[in-house]
Amino acid sequence: MISILLVEDEAAIGEGLTTSLEAEGFRLHWVRDGDEALEAWHRHDPDLILLDLMLPGLSGTEICRRVRAESDVPIVMLTAKDTEVDRIVGLELGADDYVTKPFSTRELIARIRAVLRRGRATAPAAAEVTGSAVEAGGVVVDRARHEVRIDGVAVELPPKEFNLLELLVANAGLVVTRERIIERIWGLDYVGDTKTLDVHIGRLRARVEHDPHDPKRIRTVRGVGYRFVDTS
Ligand code: CA
Repeated sequence: MISILLVEDEAAIGEGLTTSLEAEGFRLHWVRDGDEALEAWHRHDPDLILLDLMLPGLSGTEICRRVRAESDVPIVMLTAKDTEVDRIVGLELGADDYVTKPFSTRELIARIRAVLRRGRATAPAAAEVTGSAVEAGGVVVDRARHEVRIDGVAVELPPKEFNLLELLVANAGLVVTRERIIERIWGLDYVGDTKTLDVHIGRLRARVEHDPHDPKRIRTVRGVGYRFVDTS
């Protein structure tokens, strides 16, 4: 039986979710206080955590941060506001997905099942780091040799594209935010137009995609960033 730790202080939501998720065959452990969340997580070792953002005691973001420091258990955030900040903060903290309140139970259950499925599906396919090289989905970026191979064919890339591809492949399956890419590739003090990033992504797609107009490997996550997808 798949067990879920629900961290939610609103009684109506907690009771409603407990009833509907148990009806779907999940085992629920519900705590209402952020301070109880970590102890409950250690005690129950759940398969997934449903985590409210605004809580008495430890906040949802802090709980997420502390859980991620120890474990890659799937985390779905329940947020009150659908703002970009919430999304980026949630995903940057390592949450796997989020739903915005008010949400339908059906939508939440679909997200839970998708995250559980993805966890199983992507674990072996995630980027492999061997020495100085990263690899995912037929793309190898080898820093020591300054070499890129795509489906076994060596490709020459300029330094910015090389670094960008390495960052995306090393995080295969995960969203890398635009902010993080710019910080890593251009530096914190970069003040230029963020359109520069789109230009470099476009050039990179021309090299790594079969059809750059229908990219399968480097996917745009609208309003957030990019995700490298293992298409093999
Ligand atoms: Ca709350």
